[in-house]
Amino acid sequence: MDSKPTALTPAQEDKMIEDAFKDLLDGYLNSNHRKKVEIIERAFRFAKEAHSGIRRRSGEPYIMHPIAVAKIVSKEIGLGSTSICAALLHDVVEDTEYTVDDIEQNFGPKIAQFVEGLTKISGGIFGDKASVQAENFRKLLLTMSEDIRVVLIKMADRLHNMRTLGSMAPNKRYKIAGETLYIYAPLAHRLGLFAIKTELEDLSFKHEHPDIYRQISEKIHESEARRSAVYSDFSEPIKRKLDSIGIKYDAKARLKSIYSIYNKMETKHLPFEEVYDLYAMRIVFECDDQSKEKAICWSIYSAITDLYQLHPTRTRDWIATPKANGYQALHLTVMGPDGNWIEVQIRSRRMDEIAEKGFAAHWKYKIGEGDEESELNAWLRTIKDILDNPEPSAIDFLNTLKLNLFASEIVVFTPAGELLTLPSGSTVLDLAFNLHSEIGMRCIAGKVNHKLVPLSHVLRSGDQAEVLTSKTQTPQPEWENHLVTAKAKTRLRQALRKMRQPMIAEGRKIFEKWLADNDIQESNAVISKILGTFHASGRDDLYYQLGAQEIVLADFLVKTLKKSAAHGDDRKTGLLSTIIKFGKKVMPTTSSSSNTETADTSADDATEKILTPEKKINTKEIYRLKHTADGANYKLAQCCHPIHGDDVMGFINDEGIVEIHSLDCPEAQVLKAGYGSRIVATEWDTAPERFLAHLKIEGIDRHGILQELIQLISTHMGIDIRKLEIEASGEVFECDLWVKVADVEAVSDLCRQARSIDGVTSAARVH
Ligand code: MN
Repeated sequence: MDSKPTALTPAQEDKMIEDAFKDLLDGYLNSNHRKKVEIIERAFRFAKEAHSGIRRRSGEPYIMHPIAVAKIVSKEIGLGSTSICAALLHDVVEDTEYTVDDIEQNFGPKIAQFVEGLTKISGGIFGDKASVQAENFRKLLLTMSEDIRVVLIKMADRLHNMRTLGSMAPNKRYKIAGETLYIYAPLAHRLGLFAIKTELEDLSFKHEHPDIYRQISEKIHESEARRSAVYSDFSEPIKRKLDSIGIKYDAKARLKSIYSIYNKMETKHLPFEEVYDLYAMRIVFECDDQSKEKAICWSIYSAITDLYQLHPTRTRDWIATPKANGYQALHLTVMGPDGNWIEVQIRSRRMDEIAEKGFAAHWKYKIGEGDEESELNAWLRTIKDILDNPEPSAIDFLNTLKLNLFASEIVVFTPAGELLTLPSGSTVLDLAFNLHSEIGMRCIAGKVNHKLVPLSHVLRSGDQAEVLTSKTQTPQPEWENHLVTAKAKTRLRQALRKMRQPMIAEGRKIFEKWLADNDIQESNAVISKILGTFHASGRDDLYYQLGAQEIVLADFLVKTLKKSAAHGDDRKTGLLSTIIKFGKKVMPTTSSSSNTETADTSADDATEKILTPEKKINTKEIYRLKHTADGANYKLAQCCHPIHGDDVMGFINDEGIVEIHSLDCPEAQVLKAGYGSRIVATEWDTAPERFLAHLKIEGIDRHGILQELIQLISTHMGIDIRKLEIEASGEVFECDLWVKVADVEAVSDLCRQARSIDGVTSAARVH
């Protein structure tokens, strides 16, 4: 990677830089922003000088990155000169000796504020190096709640990094792709940046599953001719009709993204060939008068339903009630000439721009006073609320934040007819907290559509909902399971923390006395060792566990602490196995080591010996997953049960053992976002081990079909069945099957053979 990919002379390289900048400027001049060329030119010269001599990993001059980011900001998001300047300068403070003050002196306070928000920091409230990402994110969002443009620039930065991710080391790639899927893509969605969201997802997917990505792309390519024939059969009559009623429009086929095709295949257990709704038709019409848009949408709708059979439940009117991210359109699904359902999206040019560019486009259309703007403000207020009351643990913070980024929403009515927007999945308890924290704390039940319901009741769009409270009610820890909104979770945890205070104070006393009795000096090293030993998420958590007598400080700890203090040794010790622990507290990072719910299947996994590596694992190198007579140098995560051949990554757990997660595993997403420095890229070596895989087989019940199935699996293919669950209802049966296999190939083969049995409609692995 030291060799430069191009052999440009310095003069040629300079020309490349100047050309790229000129291209940026031309794009800006073609936009309808005010023409503040002078300051943009100055920002470019400043950044070019500051980054001179520095290269990216790809070998390009560093300045090409800020130029590319500025181009995305200008062209793809549609922002103006202030944002373009901040994009050009965004890495100056982080990577060169210039400070935020220098930026302020040269470019004024606004640009300096943006650059400050975009500059990464080390350390912070979570005080844990592993969680710097969470801290950076918090800082970014704090600036965002002052001015949303800063987060739009960050999106552009992330997008360009994702586009050029190929030149990074694999462990970094997983970390960045993971963060992107976990935080940035949902945030882009929340901000209405649909095109960017889709591209971020596709790029993350491409880097995590290069083979599947390529396969799907190839299949799309192969089926292109047939699909475009189907599309033109479908769209021609619509176009003729619209032409005849004199509407000016653009119509195009919109292909589903590779990532969403994959998701559909996975969640519905379908092969590619059976994902029919690859295409949606999008009609974007021209209209100068905003007051006429709605009527035109519905006249197009009626033109289409004159031609094709309408799907009775799939019309979505995002015009009367726009989505909270500002999205407006009319969607309908009709049956195409080939008998498959096809979605049609109808939008005006203005709506289309909002859908593609998100809130940035709102400013262009100067929607300042309307509902959308107040929705945005309401959302920003929740974000600010979370930031003002940060969770003590980085992972909780990320999870809380993430909950808030999910975009699908429901609308409920109060008894007074007031309209409230809540994330979908919200319960009566969420509603209570949404109305007021005090109402949340005192909530005992709800009334939905005049019927009494428990506080865990999940609300649906259109419900009329009311909260019942009682003065004697107090917040309960298990309420957390009934909450989906970030604000409510944060408030509940705060209240619980407050209630835990006496226990914490008690624990603190115990701890201080123990330190004094054993003559141990309190230091960061001592604290972090003890926190690690008990898997406590922070001091308060440790004190609470002590105060509640869930744990005791055993004598051998004294010896270890004194010894490590003497040797200055700060390696994580293998104390866990000897620690006395009551209760069943489980840390997210090590859950796989403790709770295995599939007891009947884990028995033989447990006999697998796992070797602790002798030396520190170098995360920059690819870690080979080996299995010898002595044992394995890795451990399979129990959350996602990866098997040989899956796309996986390693996470170095607290015991120093490499834990293997599937790249899609939700738990791995959190690890990638929160503990990026402990991720290691892995490669499967030859493994004599047998892996546990979970399959789902569905079909139409007929006499003898199950015998045939079982015979195929056990006798024919020599595969070991560990567990089998069959459920039949009417003519349909569903079979859950756990088998021991050598690798992914064996699973695919089994599925293929099972599908060939008469009556079986689907057979696929469950992740
Ligand atoms: Mn950057």
